[in-house]
Amino acid sequence: MKQNRFFQISAAKWIVLLILVSGALLLAATKTCSECGTKLRGKYLTSNGRVFCSQACYEKTLPKCTACGRRIKGPFVRVEGKPYCSKKCRNTILPKCEICNQPLLSYVRVGEHLYCKEHAKNPPCDACGLPVGRGAKLGDGRIVCANCRPDLVLQMTSARILYMRARDDFHVITGLKSPTLPPLALVGLEKMPGYRVGQAPSELHERGFYHRKETTTEHKTIFGMVLAKRTDVTERISILYGLPRQQFVSTATHELMHDIISERYPKLAGTGPTWVEEGLCQYAASLVCRRHGYEEQLERLAKNISPDYGDSYRYFLQLFGENGAIKMLRWLATADGSRMPTRPPELE
Ligand SMILES: [Zn+2]
Ligand SMILES: [Zn+2]
Ligand SMILES: [Zn+2]
Ligand SMILES: [Zn+2]
Ligand SMILES: [Zn+2]
Repeated sequence: MKQNRFFQISAAKWIVLLILVSGALLLAATKTCSECGTKLRGKYLTSNGRVFCSQACYEKTLPKCTACGRRIKGPFVRVEGKPYCSKKCRNTILPKCEICNQPLLSYVRVGEHLYCKEHAKNPPCDACGLPVGRGAKLGDGRIVCANCRPDLVLQMTSARILYMRARDDFHVITGLKSPTLPPLALVGLEKMPGYRVGQAPSELHERGFYHRKETTTEHKTIFGMVLAKRTDVTERISILYGLPRQQFVSTATHELMHDIISERYPKLAGTGPTWVEEGLCQYAASLVCRRHGYEEQLERLAKNISPDYGDSYRYFLQLFGENGAIKMLRWLATADGSRMPTRPPELE
C-alpha cells in the first residue's frame, strides 16, 4: 500500500517532467542562430533579442573598424557615421599637417594646404606663400621652402637665359622688341625702390624694377645759344634673386615692357597715372605666361589686390581678352597717358 502510493506520486512527477523537457526540446528545435541559421542545441547566446549558436557567430554581427577591418568588441569612435576601433585607426583618415605630419582634428587651411594651428603661423615662403617648415634663408633675409628651393633663379647664367627667353617670347607674340636690351642685374630686397630698413620681406611686393635715366647735355655758345644737344640714356632691369623660374619670366617680361613703353610709346611713359603703365606691363607678362601655361603666375596676376597692378591688369584683360596682343598693339598706337582717368575704369 505504502509502496503503491509512492509509485503513484512519482509517476505523476515524471509525467510533469516529461512534458516540461519535451516542451523545452520542442522550443530549442524551432530556434535557429540569427547568423548562420543552424538549429540551436544546448547552450546558446542572446544579444539584443537575437540568438547565436556560438561566440564566433555573435562576433560576426559586431561593427567592423573602417580602417583596420577588425570587429569592434568594446566602445568605439564614429567619424561621419563610420566606426573606428581606436583613436589610432581614426587618425589614419584625418588630414595631416604638411609640416609636422600630425593628424588634424581641426586645421588651418592655406589655399589647398592644411596645417596644424601652430605651423600655420610659420613665416611664409617668399616664392609660394605657404608656411615654411624646413626651409632656407636667402642672403637678404627672405625665407623659401624646401619645395621651391630647387626651382629658384640664383645664378646670373640661368637668369640671363630666362631673361632673353622672355624677351624673345614677347617679341614672337607681339612683334614688340626694345631696340636696346637693358642690362640685367640680380639683386636682393634692399635694392628694391620700395625697401625700408626693418621691413619684413613679405611686406615688399616688388620683384623687379626698370631703371632709366636720361641725361641731356647742351653745348652752348658764350651767348647762350644751343649748338648741340645730346641725350644719354642709362637703363637697367633689376630682378630679385631667388624667384621661381616662372615668376622670374613673368617679372622679366613686365620690366621689359616698361622699357618698350619708354622707347616706343612716349605718350604713355611716365605721363599718365601709374596704373596705365603697370597694368600694361602686367598684361604683357600674362601674354608670355599664357603662352607657356604658367597657371600659377596667371593666377598671381589676376588675384593681385593692388589698384595699380591688379585692377589695372583686370581692366586690360577685359579690354584686350586673354590672347589680345593685336588689340593691345592697336590700343597702344593711339593711347595718351595724360588723358587717362586716375583709376582704372570700373569693370562691368
Ligand atoms: Zn551560428
Ligand atoms: Zn581599427
Ligand atoms: Zn604641424
Ligand atoms: Zn615655397
Ligand atoms: Zn612695373
